[in-house]
Amino acid sequence: MDQKDVVYVNGSFLPRAEARVSVEDRGFVFGDGVYEVLRAINGRLFATRFHNQRLERSLEGIKISLQGADSPGRFVEIGRQLLKENRLLDGEAILYMQVTRGASTRAHHFPPADTAPTVYISVTRFSPYTDLAANGASAITHPDLREVRCDLKTLNLLANALASQTARERGAFEAMLARDGVVTEGAKTNFFGVVDGTLRTHPCDNHILPGITRSVLHDLARELGIELDETPIKVSEITKLSELFLTGTTTDVMPVVKLDDTPVGKGRPGELTRRLQRVLAESLASGGD
Ligand code: PLP
Repeated sequence: MDQKDVVYVNGSFLPRAEARVSVEDRGFVFGDGVYEVLRAINGRLFATRFHNQRLERSLEGIKISLQGADSPGRFVEIGRQLLKENRLLDGEAILYMQVTRGASTRAHHFPPADTAPTVYISVTRFSPYTDLAANGASAITHPDLREVRCDLKTLNLLANALASQTARERGAFEAMLARDGVVTEGAKTNFFGVVDGTLRTHPCDNHILPGITRSVLHDLARELGIELDETPIKVSEITKLSELFLTGTTTDVMPVVKLDDTPVGKGRPGELTRRLQRVLAESLASGGD
């Protein structure tokens, strides 16, 4: 049955085409807001606790206070209601939640304290990247032109969008961002690489988003007895990568088999990548809360 396409904006459930926010909304004018993206499989939302914690941290990080009964937990409940209303309790869907500092006459400093944040929540049908996951994707390296608080999931995605567009124009799935001689993360994903037999990824600092999938995978790798070395991969080490994969809520574990037009390792998804892909798929299939 077709999706009904009802969204939630500031206390109301209404058709997406009728949803409105002010032109003075600070999300629109300044990108002054934060967001989360969650995966729903057969109506079960995955890793809600982690997403709620990260949303809380992002809100605190940019000093937005929710009002009244609003909380990340409540937004997830609204998300569940939207899944039901939109008949997305079967198969794959994505829950998007966004909070901005609200609408106010344009001025850089914060609006009056009683300005209500704008809350927008929506669900959409999702198709996993099954073919790329099976055969591997390609990526490019790209300068990391973002500011320094990449650890907050804010709406300021201009540098990510520009890098993603360059990747798309070059026929690649992802742009891997390089700053000060190391690869930090993808424009929309974290990544892991195998160098000299060791699984490595960038540590969680202000230069990467602490990805929920990264964290889930870290735990799964530990359970399998696989050591993870959080020493950033240098651009100069890229040629030594025998395996490389991206992680993200909508990307799962995505093997990268070509980087800047050069094969990674044997040019096909590696053993460790395949193993971690399997355990994440199992976790997604059985998990959810
Ligand atoms: N890094 C960036 C810059 C992202 O935008 C995302 C997801 O949107 C990720 C990493 C992956 O995070 P998660 O696993 O929580 O989806």
